[in-house]
Amino acid sequence: MKILCIGRNYEEHARELKNPLPVEPVVFSKPDSALLRNNDPFYMPDFAKVFHHEVELVVKICRLGKNIEEKFAHRYYDEIGLGVDFTARDLQDELRGKGLPWEKCKAFDGSAVLSNFTPKMRFADIQNINFKLLVNGEERQVGNSKDMINSVDQIIAYVSKYFTLKIGDLIYTGTPAGVGAVNIGDRLQGYIENVSFFDFMVK
Ligand code: ZN
Repeated sequence: MKILCIGRNYEEHARELKNPLPVEPVVFSKPDSALLRNNDPFYMPDFAKVFHHEVELVVKICRLGKNIEEKFAHRYYDEIGLGVDFTARDLQDELRGKGLPWEKCKAFDGSAVLSNFTPKMRFADIQNINFKLLVNGEERQVGNSKDMINSVDQIIAYVSKYFTLKIGDLIYTGTPAGVGAVNIGDRLQGYIENVSFFDFMVK
């Protein structure tokens, strides 16, 4: 099982980090050891100081595919979940400055928070799903999938040119604006359409 992630897929978020808008999707991956499930706490690692939350819709691949056409992409995923792409932002700035890969700041243990999944049939339109992240009861990130620069189907078509998609693979589809640092003692709660998907502590 692999985890593919899309960076800068929401314009407002790309702007808040002063990144240029990508012409093509920005793709990176995390190993399965990055997964943090069952509302387990996120333990702040000691190799960096600033860990940012990035709440993201996650799609689960249900069919083997390579070079998938956008018009057929909807057949390749059947479930939607919610995740947090934890990012060691200070380390990312350092790595980016040196032109080095992102694994250490993006793919470490616990960096891929994942909720349970719900059938995509529950949603009338995949590109119109509301989701949000609360930190200590306060709304920090509010997003809607209609604001994605690349739609889920476009993402699947794009990444499958490079990576064979397998059953159970996960795609984190990018974060809306409002990312910020977490602190020990914070409580993070994620919602899709006002239904709770995760609720965990930072320790
Ligand atoms: Zn992200």
